[in-house]
Amino acid sequence: MEKIPPSHANQPTPPVKPQEQRGMIIKYANFLGSFTTIAQCPPPAKPEYAFIGRSNVGKSSLINMLTGRNSLAHVSHTPGKTQTLNFYHINESWYLVDLPGYGFAKVSKTKRQEFEQMLRRYLQKRENLQCVFLLIDSRIPPQQSDLDFANWLGEMMIPFVFVFTKTDDRAFKPANIDNFKQALLETWNEMPQYFITSSRRTTGKAELLSFINGLNKQFAP
Ligand code: GDP
Repeated sequence: MEKIPPSHANQPTPPVKPQEQRGMIIKYANFLGSFTTIAQCPPPAKPEYAFIGRSNVGKSSLINMLTGRNSLAHVSHTPGKTQTLNFYHINESWYLVDLPGYGFAKVSKTKRQEFEQMLRRYLQKRENLQCVFLLIDSRIPPQQSDLDFANWLGEMMIPFVFVFTKTDDRAFKPANIDNFKQALLETWNEMPQYFITSSRRTTGKAELLSFINGLNKQFAP
């Protein structure tokens, strides 16, 4: 089956030039709350970006790195917040949503199905959602659950980009990214846009913020 790439489908993101790095400064980053239904979420009047990945992929670290806050998203893990949509209001102009990690959720099958349904409903129905950032651990070979999730986003025509994490780590291998691309190209015509990041080294921060800034400018509620 051939998939139509989502609207951000592209080649690797070119590095942001130093003179462009002023793209976005995060002045305010406020936690708004943890929700389980769209009805509870803030009105969809501002652009929204959701971050998702398997548990332990480095999502909290990436959110902290992007916002320049040490413990905005709690690194490994705040009990109770792991199964909810966690909302942050950034610069009072856009929403960052920390979605539950998928993969090794230590919960019953019924609970897992419930929260997967909640997640899918949010991703399909949230009208101000501009882009999903799908985090992939660059230290390991392609994981079926990541490929399945990307394929599902593609089928639903939900715009997303990949974010490869932990590229500073000794276990990082460029071949993992190449193999991931190869695996994805079995079902896709082209590789969606992707970012190379390390929260430890702040690699990719300017590129991600500049990308969000660009989409914010196009947002029409
Ligand atoms: P989450 O479960 O996806 O929110 O992941 P966390 O942000 O809690 O990170 C999981 C583990 O990976 C922690 O031990 C982090 O210190 C580590 N980690 C996160 N980001 C990086 C990174 O950029 N480089 C390295 N080397 N380790 C990281």
